[in-house]
Amino acid sequence: MAAKVKAAELKATIEKLVGFGTRHTLSDTTSSTRGIGAARRWVKSQFEADSAACGGCLEIITPEETVTGARIPAPAVIQNVMAVQRGTSDPDRVIIIAGHIDSRVSDPLNATSDAPGANDDGSGTAAVIEAARVLSHYKFPATIVYAVLSGEEQGLYGGKLLAKVAREKGWRVEADLNNDIIGNIHGQGGETEAGFVRVFSEGTKAVETPADANRRRYNGGELDSPSRNIDRYMAGLAAQYLDGFKVRMVYRTDRFGRGGDQTPVLQAGYPAVRVTEAAENYTRQHQDVRTENGTAYGDVLSGVDFPYLANVTRLDAVTLASLAWAPAPPTEVKISGAVSADTQISWQPDPAAAGYRVWWRETTEPFWTHSRDAGPATTVKLGGVVIDDWFFGVQAISRNGFASPVVFPGPAGDFVSPPPAPPTGK
Ligand SMILES: [Zn+2]
Repeated sequence: MAAKVKAAELKATIEKLVGFGTRHTLSDTTSSTRGIGAARRWVKSQFEADSAACGGCLEIITPEETVTGARIPAPAVIQNVMAVQRGTSDPDRVIIIAGHIDSRVSDPLNATSDAPGANDDGSGTAAVIEAARVLSHYKFPATIVYAVLSGEEQGLYGGKLLAKVAREKGWRVEADLNNDIIGNIHGQGGETEAGFVRVFSEGTKAVETPADANRRRYNGGELDSPSRNIDRYMAGLAAQYLDGFKVRMVYRTDRFGRGGDQTPVLQAGYPAVRVTEAAENYTRQHQDVRTENGTAYGDVLSGVDFPYLANVTRLDAVTLASLAWAPAPPTEVKISGAVSADTQISWQPDPAAAGYRVWWRETTEPFWTHSRDAGPATTVKLGGVVIDDWFFGVQAISRNGFASPVVFPGPAGDFVSPPPAPPTGK
């Protein structure tokens, strides 16, 4: 599957996207050649072609919402283009890959100047389209959603809309892989980094309640949100399937002080990570296309390295497939063993799981290090393993060996969060 991801396909997609001149959220939506409307319709046509090639396996939806805000001075329609590959046996369990199609120049309100957005986020959009092209030839028990979002640069509107659609449709979102700026290898400091990609994941849930926070502060869990365990999972898949290409886990929701469409998804209570290139180049982001004192500015096609982008897209593809082929992560994971020599861990049975594997690690270790197969049992007693000294988790495994991410016990690690409380105040 990784080998089916093609750098040439990604390049052709970004060339096409750049050809729309600007894809600013407030740009022309009626022209057939320029602006975000034409770009979105082209993406829709790509999904339709994929669907035709797989016997109609994709349902294409274009949810939209009219919004205003600090960077949307007059009411404007935000529209996402999403292809839904319905799962064969558990269609409400949903794995999402997302990127944003909108682009910008130096002035965030400039909707007319050329804003090629080759990397931000033509690269992520191309990864979504390529993932759909490759994965639509396979069947999965869970649903995969390929989401091309709008309005990111104006205030993460596409991510908010994605979360809203997920809630309205009753999706059990297991993971949202938000791909934003994933194709450049020449960093701001002159370095070249093509061997890894960064995956950002929150430590504690955005939707953690005060009571859960108290419990977590005392017993641990600040390193084991579901998003963080997806991050570890992706690092493991890269090691398993991608020849020398690695994941650098970053223990943050996003880059320092910066934002992305994974945040509103997290705020809606769904696990999500941000996938971003190893080394960013700020002369190529949010810039008018120009040359100044001998330096070229602008997010142009030449700033994207297609073999690198292909590797990142391969990581996405194997992650989506592995998650969708695996059983759901175990639920209601509980742990006990205080003032005893042993630790006991239990979870709910899942008919889709052939077995389970319990993991543990030192509290200062980034990766799971110790494991024991539980077989089909839903309770395991780890004799002689003192609960105080380790962090624990459990994963579900399918008949043919696909494993879910590891789930840390209790609300800190649960992949299913209760819906967040509505905002209070004035
Ligand atoms: Zn972006």
